[in-house]
Amino acid sequence: SKAKGGNSCSFYDPKLQTLLENQAELETDIVRAIINNEFCAYFQPQISMQGKLVGAEALIRWLHPTKGLITPNQFIPIAEQYGLIQKLQTIVLRNICSLVNQLDAKNMIDEQFSVSINISQRQFNSTELKNELCTTINEFNISPAQIKLEITETMLSGDINSTIKQMAELKAQGFVFSIDDFGTGYSCLAHLNAFPVQEIKIDKSFIDKILDKGKGFNIVNTIISLGKSLDITVVAEGVEQQEQFDMLNILDADYVQGYLIAKPMDATNYLTWHAQHIKK
Ligand code: C2E
Ligand code: CA
Ligand code: CA
Ligand code: CA
Repeated sequence: SKAKGGNSCSFYDPKLQTLLENQAELETDIVRAIINNEFCAYFQPQISMQGKLVGAEALIRWLHPTKGLITPNQFIPIAEQYGLIQKLQTIVLRNICSLVNQLDAKNMIDEQFSVSINISQRQFNSTELKNELCTTINEFNISPAQIKLEITETMLSGDINSTIKQMAELKAQGFVFSIDDFGTGYSCLAHLNAFPVQEIKIDKSFIDKILDKGKGFNIVNTIISLGKSLDITVVAEGVEQQEQFDMLNILDADYVQGYLIAKPMDATNYLTWHAQHIKK
């Protein structure tokens, strides 16, 4: 028989070993950080083409005592891998409900205003999701319609029947869905209307190329038309330049989100920004 072994099959790989050690260290640090309240949600506004403030997206941040502000791509995958994502979601959800409650108390929002939360695949599959959402909105006395659940396009491409069932149950409770990173996945766009979706978000990679008059422009144009024909709100994310905004206005997108409007802000700065924006 063929001999196994040899260097190519040896288990010990110093690079892999370091990677695993770093991951385990990060996991321990995340657990410590949860206990020390180092995680919180930042909020990035979304406006209509007419300038109306229509919502915000909650984006998790880690305010590390020595490393400073850490963005989600550096810890979400590890949190998912080690089963810590649920705890982070709870923090974000409570931050959102607290913000909406404050905005409501100050009469700074109407029923149309909603805050989006990113839901990972594992959380979406969890039977606990509905329970946690309902319990938390009741505790903070806010309406389910003010929470928008962002799931990625890729999550629609799995078991369609169970996906529709989960979405329908949450929709029946009054929650709304937005499809994130739209255009990057492999879902069948023609089947989009099979899902109870209120909004789609065009991925930043297409917005980056919208002024090139090539593929990027055509994709954005097609997605906006698709949204119109299915009566789904279309949000352009990652809008950084006025020229991109102007093009999206011509193409008749519904909402925009991006550094052109504002960067994600902590709750205090967001409240100030919100108050100033609605005064205009
Ligand atoms: P995403 O959901 O696609 O979020 C949009 C990302 O684009 C955010 O990065 C946001 O800060 C960034 N962004 C917004 N406007 C602009 C712009 O004009 N220019 C540029 N260059 N970037 C812009 P962030 O906050 O680092 O989040 C990265 C990803 O981490 C998110 O991508 C999302 O997939 C994930 N994530 C964030 N918060 C959560 C969370 O609470 N739970 C879960 N499960 N995932 C989260
Ligand atoms: Ca998102
Ligand atoms: Ca996105
Ligand atoms: Ca519309």
